[in-house]
Amino acid sequence: MALETLERARQEFLAALAEAGSDPARVETVRVRFAGRRSGLLRDLEDALKLLPREEKPSYGKALNELKKFIEERLAAAHRAAADASKRGEVADVTLPGRRPALGAYHPVTLVRREIEEIFLRMGYSVADGPEAEDDWHNFEALNFPPDHPARDTQDTFFLKGGMLLRTHTSPVQIRTMETTPPPIRVIIPGRVYRCDSDLRHTPMFHQVEGLVVDEGITFGHLKATLEAFVHVLFDPEMGVRFRPSFFPFTEPSAEVDITCVFCRGKGCAVCTGSGWMEILGAGMVDPRVFRFCNVDPARYTGFAFGCGLDRVAMLKYGIPDLRMQFSGDERLLRQFEGIRR
Ligand SMILES: [Zn+2]
Repeated sequence: MALETLERARQEFLAALAEAGSDPARVETVRVRFAGRRSGLLRDLEDALKLLPREEKPSYGKALNELKKFIEERLAAAHRAAADASKRGEVADVTLPGRRPALGAYHPVTLVRREIEEIFLRMGYSVADGPEAEDDWHNFEALNFPPDHPARDTQDTFFLKGGMLLRTHTSPVQIRTMETTPPPIRVIIPGRVYRCDSDLRHTPMFHQVEGLVVDEGITFGHLKATLEAFVHVLFDPEMGVRFRPSFFPFTEPSAEVDITCVFCRGKGCAVCTGSGWMEILGAGMVDPRVFRFCNVDPARYTGFAFGCGLDRVAMLKYGIPDLRMQFSGDERLLRQFEGIRR
């Protein structure tokens, strides 16, 4: 009789375990019901042992021990199976919050580049591109840099094996464009450039954008109006623009272009060292020597070129205090641009 009770208990246990499947919570319920220390069925069967007649005790005790062992082994196996199943994701915890996909944000330099491209595309320009590993001809010689020009010093230029170098400005793309495209030319050239330099206002890699216009009858007046229109759209229509005489090997005459200080609006502050102006662009009329290097006839064509640092424009537009912050990969800076699209 007593042994039949044990067999019934075994069948009951197997049925309950099969029903629980690989759900960890239900396997645990089965464990408590059969092997729970306080009120499990095994505990009751142990208590029953004491009430049995002496002669039945050995066989019942042996069978009970076997049942205990059987139940413990099966429970352990069921718990392992449940843990594996939840690892494979077969059991979904529907109470967990959903995972939001990380959308990311455009980098401030990308935002500024796209905005500048848009402004010039509206003025009829196209976007030109060129290699970052350049040869001496396109980076220096054709741009009228004499052989002893300080920009050719290893202090400024990363030279590569085999006579190549990392371009120190986007100007070689001007040469490449004139070599392959007959005038009229109107291009805007954004890109990464490299100089051996690193401090608060310089990083070894930075971004420039240049423009080049070549056609018959182009004058400094066109240059001035173009850059004024550009600054007024990029910043605001009240922004003052002034040209100061300067020198670049590839333009003659050359000018540096200042805008009203964006921090003090021209009153004078620490950032603009009291002048009320900040330098933002370099520009000038294309030197006839550069035209001749590119087989463009300087008697027929004139043109202008201009360039500025995209990183510097991003700093001014978004109030970023340190140039290096833009390249440190710190998400706290980048997250501030989430949702801004261009
Ligand atoms: Zn100022």
